[in-house]
Amino acid sequence: MLRGRTEPLGILVLSALIIDLHTHSFFSDGALIPSELVRRVGAAGYAAVAITDHADSSNLDHLVPRMVRVANDLNTVQSVRVIPGVELTHVPPELIPALVKKARDLGARLVVIHGETIVEPVAPGTNRAGLDAGADIIAHPGLLSVEDARLAAERGSFMELSARKGHSLTNGHVAKLALETGASMVLNSDGHAPGDFLSEALAPKIVQGAGLPPDAFVQLQSNARKLLDRLGYAL
Ligand SMILES: [Zn+2]
Ligand SMILES: [Zn+2]
Repeated sequence: MLRGRTEPLGILVLSALIIDLHTHSFFSDGALIPSELVRRVGAAGYAAVAITDHADSSNLDHLVPRMVRVANDLNTVQSVRVIPGVELTHVPPELIPALVKKARDLGARLVVIHGETIVEPVAPGTNRAGLDAGADIIAHPGLLSVEDARLAAERGSFMELSARKGHSLTNGHVAKLALETGASMVLNSDGHAPGDFLSEALAPKIVQGAGLPPDAFVQLQSNARKLLDRLGYAL
């Protein structure tokens, strides 16, 4: 996760290049077209970003092929690795398995479930349905149960710490259960607009604010890198 660059005086500077696996473009409720989103996060020090717009059965087939196309284009000409994903959002738990499969069949490389945040009336059972369906990340899982945290550890799904207002209220709980059960965590911005994305200055503080040690951000970025490896996007 640490990558060196040589400064004019020959001093090796290690910088933490950010991986953020949950963002929104204006293909759902984000402010930016994917190309601008990628350009902005590149300027902010990102190594990789997943664009994971809100989806259900109404728009999945519209969204995913377009995100695959722009990710493929951008990945040939600039350095930020762009991963085409989706965030299945407020999909009733019974419908989640079929939509996870459909998203992957359409070409989504990363499937995020909009988990049971305490600031929205997400249907109970959404976290579990996402885990059972093999989703890659349960975003803002809210008051995650210990059973679901154990399942995440067993299945290799990642639990999200969120930089987003509201969703971040339960980061401390999520971090505690993840540590207890061995579930892997990632930090994502859930960014919708300029100003929402992660920065090298703030990201480690958000992780520390969840009750984790000062160096935990490095571990979480390493987890994100492992997930990228699994998806075929080695950095
Ligand atoms: Zn949104
Ligand atoms: Zn989101």
